[in-house]
Amino acid sequence: MDISSILQGGYQHPLSRSWQAKRQLTKSMFMYPIFITDDENASDEISSLPGQRRWGINKLESFIGPLVQKGLASVILFGVPMKCEKDPSGTPADDPNGPVIQAIKKLRSLYPELYIACDVCLCEYTSHGHCGVLHEDGTINTEPSVQRIADVALNYAKAGAHCVAPSDMMDGRIKGIKRALIDAGYGNKCTLMSYSAKFASALYGPFRDAAGSAPSFGNRKCYQLPPAAKGLARRAIQRDVVEGADIIMVKPALPYLDIIADAAELAADHPLACYQVSGEFAMIHAGARAGVYDLRTMAFESVESMVRAGATLILSYFTPEFLDWLS
Ligand SMILES: [Zn+2]
Repeated sequence: MDISSILQGGYQHPLSRSWQAKRQLTKSMFMYPIFITDDENASDEISSLPGQRRWGINKLESFIGPLVQKGLASVILFGVPMKCEKDPSGTPADDPNGPVIQAIKKLRSLYPELYIACDVCLCEYTSHGHCGVLHEDGTINTEPSVQRIADVALNYAKAGAHCVAPSDMMDGRIKGIKRALIDAGYGNKCTLMSYSAKFASALYGPFRDAAGSAPSFGNRKCYQLPPAAKGLARRAIQRDVVEGADIIMVKPALPYLDIIADAAELAADHPLACYQVSGEFAMIHAGARAGVYDLRTMAFESVESMVRAGATLILSYFTPEFLDWLS
């Protein structure tokens, strides 16, 4: 046999196998998505998302405390109002007494070392359930949408968020938010993570159950990207870099590993996040329950593929498990 034919000598030991990765998984790569609702004592199971709940702020300490002890480094908060008065411009999004702003303040005081990101969108708070402000004909009205989203992001920053992460996919919102942060003196106090390549995916179903954020008419295909749109995703990533994003994100993750790899090349000097979304998480659980594979093995394979594609940060509902598995 030729010398050049033999590769197995290089990975015959568990340690030499681990060296084959360019980067190893670490606990700090994981950001845990958390649903915060406006019933202060809530701890409501979400049936389509195994193990995940909608939390009230009075329950955060007993839930997050043990995870911080295990090495939880960061969370991303999603507001899930059940009782608020929704309107066309999503006024409750930055209500100072609303669940997100209350949760930011509470977590900052309880866990000074915990990095707190906030999803920024209007759909959980608008009467029509779309992510922006609409024209009368139901299409997106871009400029007031960007203005409103920038206001919400700034108010989360003022409440103490370390990072704001707009998921709305309105054109020009990265520039709008960055400008608003700078003009208010938060340019050096708050990170801007852009959901740059967010695709219109079938994998958001469990999240919509959890957040009650399905649009009341139509769909989001005029602002989220078409699944086959590689070129558009590349343009969106490059645009958001130019507009001032500090972190680029690709969402969902597993069906879009080529886009993660593209982002790693196009935004090579930025941290690169990917979101292992609700449907990916539910799918891995469902497959394991059906005996297709072992849950832990598949969870590792899924996130290792994301790191291999270039991700440096993973938003995942598996975060609590990885805090145990990586100990
Ligand atoms: Zn939205």
